[in-house]
Amino acid sequence: MMSAELPPATLRLSIDRAALAANWRALDRLSGQARAGAAVKANAYGLGVAVVAPVLREAGCQDFFVAHWQEVPALLAHVQANQIAVLHGPLTAADATYAKAAGVRPVINSLHQARLWGEAGGGVCDLMIDTGINRIGLSMTELTDPLIGQLQIDVLHSHLASADEDSALNAAQQSRWNAARGIVQHNRASLANSAGIALGSDYHGDLTRPGLALYGGVPCAALATEIRQVATPEAALLQTREIAAGESVGYNATFVADRPMRIGVVSLGYADGYLRVWSGKGMLRSIGRPVPVLGRVSMDMTVVDLTAAPDLLEGDWLQVDYSLPEASAATGLSQYELLTLLGSRFAR
Ligand SMILES: *Cc1c(COP(=O)(O)O)cnc(C)c1O
Repeated sequence: MMSAELPPATLRLSIDRAALAANWRALDRLSGQARAGAAVKANAYGLGVAVVAPVLREAGCQDFFVAHWQEVPALLAHVQANQIAVLHGPLTAADATYAKAAGVRPVINSLHQARLWGEAGGGVCDLMIDTGINRIGLSMTELTDPLIGQLQIDVLHSHLASADEDSALNAAQQSRWNAARGIVQHNRASLANSAGIALGSDYHGDLTRPGLALYGGVPCAALATEIRQVATPEAALLQTREIAAGESVGYNATFVADRPMRIGVVSLGYADGYLRVWSGKGMLRSIGRPVPVLGRVSMDMTVVDLTAAPDLLEGDWLQVDYSLPEASAATGLSQYELLTLLGSRFAR
């Protein structure tokens, strides 16, 4: 039997590589004396690490962060092992053994992790200290523990809880992080995520860790003019049809036509991360022409109004309006959720 060649997908995530590179360069420039790295965890926030990592590498990025050990192999195909750090750190001896063998830096988050890393033979690692988010990371009171003194620390990290807000917690965390820099031996220091970069030079240290803003998210007003949209979902029309006045569309008949209409069905649904919150609210486009969502979004399909684009036929493609700040305001979903929920059926 001949091996069957899979046809092209009816759903794709279009990535503007130039915008992605420009966003990294803007964040690197806004990081002042510090260099910008990149958070590429969760498959580069859903955009696809195989697309994103080479673009960032070519733009000049040299530090890449993932959360899980399982995310390392896909990234290793594109960047050097010593440019990768794993934020969750080693939970088990197997994790520490893998880090040693792969040549990837673990981010040590606790005395337990420091012990595991030492038992695996140690070597260069990062250290995350908790300065007030109370998530993972070493407590300030543990900084002088002998286990920490034995570490060979490249980057001393902390992470801001409220960088996207004008909060007193920012200055409090910055000053604890600064104090830690005087206590723990390290090579480089890092505090800022995307929004943290906009808080100014006191927050920059030697390395910043933007994620969201690389991918077109705008976490604070100061970044609005710097950041370009990167990801646009696109879906093919599966079918078109004419309906009469009085006919309804989709599950539960939530849309009823008040006139004869030409409608289309696109290959995009809530299983792809285009959630039901877009029902009767989302907008698609054909060469700029508005093609609004009609009725309920279903699992694999969404019905649209072809009034403004009557020439469209089966197989034609539509772009989904997906500016992250606007989509977040329209749906109440966070810009992070809007990106990371885009599903595996998109060709990336
Ligand atoms: C995810 C993550 C980032 C990136 O944050 P954004 O808000 O997406 O810029 C930075 N640092 C750490 C520790 C993270 O977990």
